[in-house]
Amino acid sequence: MTTSQAAGNLCTVSALTTKKQETANSVDSEIIYLPSTDCVIKSQASLSAFTSYRVGGAAEWYVAPRNLEALQASLQYAKEQALKVTILGAGSNLLVSDRGIPGLVIATRHFRSNYFDPQTGQLTVAAGESIPSLAWEAADRGWEGLEWAVGIPGTVGGAVVMNAGAHNSCIADMLVSAQVLSAESTLETLTPDQLGYQYRSSLLQGGSRIVTQATLQLQPGADPVKVLAATKQHKQHRLSTQPYNFPSCGSVFRNPTPYTAGWLIEQTGLKGYQIGGAQVAQLHANFIVNRGGAKASDIFCLIRHIQYQVQERWSIWLEPEVKMIGEFQAANC
Ligand SMILES: Cc1cc2nc3c(=O)[nH]c(=O)nc-3n(C[C@H](O)[C@H](O)[C@H](O)COP(=O)(O)OP(=O)(O)OC[C@H]3O[C@@H](n4cnc5c(N)ncnc54)[C@H](O)[C@@H]3O)c2cc1C
Repeated sequence: MTTSQAAGNLCTVSALTTKKQETANSVDSEIIYLPSTDCVIKSQASLSAFTSYRVGGAAEWYVAPRNLEALQASLQYAKEQALKVTILGAGSNLLVSDRGIPGLVIATRHFRSNYFDPQTGQLTVAAGESIPSLAWEAADRGWEGLEWAVGIPGTVGGAVVMNAGAHNSCIADMLVSAQVLSAESTLETLTPDQLGYQYRSSLLQGGSRIVTQATLQLQPGADPVKVLAATKQHKQHRLSTQPYNFPSCGSVFRNPTPYTAGWLIEQTGLKGYQIGGAQVAQLHANFIVNRGGAKASDIFCLIRHIQYQVQERWSIWLEPEVKMIGEFQAANC
């Protein structure tokens, strides 16, 4: 990619500079500075540290803007260079291919701010804020409503897109509105009705819109001791029923009503089954854990193995909840 075609108010051709850098493994990589913003676009940035599975290759190009202007500049740059854009939150529901991801990966985790409005009981929060941190902060303030979310290690943006949920609650139940940026860089405020929410699904999935902010309805005025106790109880329950001691993406498959995916996998005798460093967790069969040194391809092949085994035994094809990005080849399993 050259910088000579880049244009736009914030990322003008004349102001762009590029620099080669030596990376730890001595491979040349390139950094592009987009002036007047915090856009530092890096080439060949490893993504394994940015996903909860701790696997995956590099982003062809990577940027982590801290504000709207920088995000718009990054989008403009991708448009000018005809780069496919992939959005990354906390990477806690992603399986990134060992071959990496072509195009520009935009991480939203540096979008930070929150405002607890005591008049309305609404929490307005930027897309990069951590869900567990918000749950603890709300509990500290005696605001009820987020206790269930304490064990979900994602960002607000990822939770709005995935309709994250636990303990019979989910984001759609409490979302007042989400602010999204379209591919054309237009800001829109959307209500839950416009987002087409269903179980772990929304119209934002696979789309070109980026969540920048969300407003959630909470219930202030409770005793913080009570809310903290409920939050701790949820956390404790998760720690005792789910394997938080190894890297994972949480539940791998959607629950096919009326069954749970974990029950089907366990009844198929797959607990503990391992391919390379990837293993069906002993504690919860709908988790695949990285026991150390797993490749994305190990996890992918284990997903396929589970799907075929469960299909053979129950005539049910399990649909992944985890988002797989980049290239995966079933023929290599
Ligand atoms: C130990 C563990 C436990 C878990 N438990 C649960 C659980 O109980 N319930 C549950 O629902 N999930 C659970 N998860 C899965 C995961 O935490 C959620 O799906 C979470 O909402 C993902 O958020 P994220 O920021 O990590 O998104 P990512 O994984 O980074 O991205 C997920 C999807 O959202 C998109 N995306 C992310 N941010 C944005 C944005 N700002 N704008 C537009 N698109 C965006 C991505 O492109 C991708 O398609 C668990 C995961 C782990 C590791």
